[in-house]
Amino acid sequence: MLAMTVSDTIGIGRRPPVTGAGILPDLLDRLDFPALNGRKDMEPEKMRRRQETDVLVIGGGAIGICSAYYLRRKGIDVVVVDRGSVCSGCSAGNGGLIVPSYSIPLASPGKILKGLKWMFNPESPFSIKPRLDPELIRWMHLFQRSSRTSRFYAAIPVIRDLNLNGLALFEELNREADLDLRLAQQGFLSVFNTPRGLDEIRKEALLLQAFDIPFDIVGADVVRDMTGGIRTMAGGGVFFPMDAHLDPRHFVLQVAASARRMGVRIHESTEVMGFRTVGKRIVAVETTRGDIVARNVVMAGGSWSTRMLGSLGIRIPMQPAKGYSVTFTRTKTCPTIPVGLLEAKTVLTPLEETFRVAGTFTFAGFDAVYRQRRIKAVVRSMTAYFPDIDPSSMNLVEIWQGFRPCSPDGLPYIGRTARVENLIIATGHGMLGITQAPISGKIVSTLATEDRPPLDIGPLNPDRFSRP
Ligand SMILES: Cc1cc2nc3c(=O)[nH]c(=O)nc-3n(C[C@H](O)[C@H](O)[C@H](O)COP(=O)(O)OP(=O)(O)OC[C@H]3O[C@@H](n4cnc5c(N)ncnc54)[C@H](O)[C@@H]3O)c2cc1C
Repeated sequence: MLAMTVSDTIGIGRRPPVTGAGILPDLLDRLDFPALNGRKDMEPEKMRRRQETDVLVIGGGAIGICSAYYLRRKGIDVVVVDRGSVCSGCSAGNGGLIVPSYSIPLASPGKILKGLKWMFNPESPFSIKPRLDPELIRWMHLFQRSSRTSRFYAAIPVIRDLNLNGLALFEELNREADLDLRLAQQGFLSVFNTPRGLDEIRKEALLLQAFDIPFDIVGADVVRDMTGGIRTMAGGGVFFPMDAHLDPRHFVLQVAASARRMGVRIHESTEVMGFRTVGKRIVAVETTRGDIVARNVVMAGGSWSTRMLGSLGIRIPMQPAKGYSVTFTRTKTCPTIPVGLLEAKTVLTPLEETFRVAGTFTFAGFDAVYRQRRIKAVVRSMTAYFPDIDPSSMNLVEIWQGFRPCSPDGLPYIGRTARVENLIIATGHGMLGITQAPISGKIVSTLATEDRPPLDIGPLNPDRFSRP
């Protein structure tokens, strides 16, 4: 039996605090407790369905599932909970790019000014809904601080190493007999159609070169040849040969299936409601399907982690950045390799039988409305570079939106925190959560076993923005 007081019990979000006994009548009305056989008159603590495990992973997205996978490979008993189904958050419909070429953080000198210019245009790729939200204001302040030249340059090798190690692990996973990842190693072509775009891409490529990311500058003819001979309005581009891509939903489901085969218990439709703590330890995680007791808890709840961590008194600056993707059945006019449209800030990804365009970066909290003007702008961006792509004649498969969990400095939060001893945080991957999922999972597994992480994780410290 756990020794705790009601005041040790912490609830999430706007719900009233979850109390050890007070929550039960409410829960019993809503939940199915097969073990009780309908008996609602039992003592509260006996009625609580309880499960035990070495590690509980909160979140069944790319980060949570890869963490569970690598933890289990170390022989650890793991439970994963997700309030939806596996891969029902941001990991599902994204661009699916594994991109060492994206090693330059968004927080770069001059970005704030550009963002302000874009802010009020409903079709721009980047926007912030102005509001007096103290967390957003703090985030913007930290973003501005992270954009200073010295911090910007310090972040690049950290992101690069995560990305390169992520890519290497994808290659390794792809060789596993029981994983059919369908990893495509075709590189990534970033194209421009204005002189300003050329200037921007050239600067970016030279910067990446200084950090050992190889590339080739190519003209319009080569762009056409590389994309399958389709007509292009691009003036040229930069090709990054190391980059790869896959269907992100398929990837996460494959790894989850493999984790299950190894013995990981994955509970879907199981929402974390609160935590019970004693001193600096989480002694139980309260879910909609009962309590789970774990030696270590991994927070991999993507953009929703902030709220859950807040209930533990941990304040990590993170904003959800909404993006859209639109997936069509693939036609002959679609590029045959992944392409980034530089000025439009969208990416085109050929998948097995489908073709996806993804983009926009909107800081408007958890605004779940599908904004048609933005979606149309994302789709239209394709024809400005590849005029023979005709979205109106292509079969729509899915319009999707996701919330990228964005830290102000572009680095994820991976590690333990001073406030709660048995908590490992793994979130804040922003626009690189697929690329960095395997390496993040591997780091989490070393933290749980107190082994040496494969990389220096000092810069990823979840407490890095906390005031001493
Ligand atoms: C348009 C777009 C394009 C992108 N393209 C790329 C790309 O090409 N390459 C790349 O590397 N990255 C890309 N990204 C970023 C990537 O999608 C994210 O960084 C990544 O999916 C984050 O993974 P995650 O596991 O942290 O979060 P998620 O996938 O969101 O998983 C979090 C999970 O936690 C669960 N959860 C939340 N609250 C609770 C709770 N209380 N209890 C239980 N479970 C809970 C959710 O249901 C969810 O399943 C893109 C993102 C967008 C929006």
